[in-house]
Amino acid sequence: MEVAVFGTKSYDRQFLQSAAEGTDIQWNFIEPRLTETTAPLASPFEAICCFVNDEISSGVLKELANGNTKLIAMRCAGYNNIDLTKAQELGIKVARVPAYSPYAVAEHAVGLILTLNRKYHKAYNRVREGDFSLGGLLGFDLHGKTVGVIGTGKIGQIFARIMHGFGCKLLAYDVHESDDCLKLGVKYESLEEVLAQSDIISLHCPLLPATRHLIDEEAIGELKPGAMIINTSRGGLINTMAAINGLKTGQIGSLGIDVYEEEAELFFEDKSESVIQDDVFARLVTFPNVLVTGHQGFFTQNALEAIANVTVQNLKEFAASRDLTNEVKVT
Ligand code: NAD
Repeated sequence: MEVAVFGTKSYDRQFLQSAAEGTDIQWNFIEPRLTETTAPLASPFEAICCFVNDEISSGVLKELANGNTKLIAMRCAGYNNIDLTKAQELGIKVARVPAYSPYAVAEHAVGLILTLNRKYHKAYNRVREGDFSLGGLLGFDLHGKTVGVIGTGKIGQIFARIMHGFGCKLLAYDVHESDDCLKLGVKYESLEEVLAQSDIISLHCPLLPATRHLIDEEAIGELKPGAMIINTSRGGLINTMAAINGLKTGQIGSLGIDVYEEEAELFFEDKSESVIQDDVFARLVTFPNVLVTGHQGFFTQNALEAIANVTVQNLKEFAASRDLTNEVKVT
């Protein structure tokens, strides 16, 4: 089976090739991501493999349906970038990798907290310059702090467990309560209460119409003044302009994000020789209390192996005309 892989990076090539050894899958690696412009490249392929910033809009899906595409195998968990209703209408199936390493993302969220709090990024540079002063590096004990987990699914649960290990008090908001979290002593509250009581808030819910701009001007107004916000989920959960205003007033004490609303034009590419055209992003990175990583939460060896293995399994099921274990359907 020939599969077109959009937005291929060297690491995708490495892990997908290794996972497909001994199968009849032939990867056709395409560097650009899937957009209306690149969609015709999918035409000969019955199956294509996509990632978080591919544009799988109604227009792109129509172009795919005009060709031979019958399956989109997402090499990620999230599928907010797909017009699922249109895909279903056009008879294009969508499969994903629902869980690969929730540890990778949860641990990255903790890394953002520790770095923002104890300023490792500044300390690293200072010591290399022979500057051993401590001014500006003052942090706080995580022990005893209240951490609000928004979304206690696979990643949120692990994140909660790690923060429990630090001795934090845990609050959560989710539309479904997790038994694991309840056993851990996590207290479920309304979103407003979680926002008002938490020193640190970490977002682990999917991007849906109901969660878009969950952190907006109003929510920021409800925060405990100076709270830290962490987002390793999807950029659209935070209204970036509102966050910038919150940072300017000090209502948001610090912000750590691995995802950004308009990341599709920036992330996963080396832009070091170009002028960033996104003024909102450019403003965001001027704050000393903002830490941005370029959607690398998933980026561990374990996660990439699991993503590649499950993607191959999804493609094998499709090739054998079996029901797709990891099919995503309109609910
Ligand atoms: P999951 O499906 O296991 O958990 C999501 C949780 O969010 C569930 O408990 C669900 O009930 C809850 N939820 C749904 N709607 C909600 C709402 N309106 N309000 C509050 N909670 C709500 O997903 P997961 O595997 O834990 O992943 C969470 C998110 O992390 C994904 O949706 C994805 O966007 C993101 N993610 C990011 C990276 C990265 O590299 N940064 C990697 C993988 C996943």
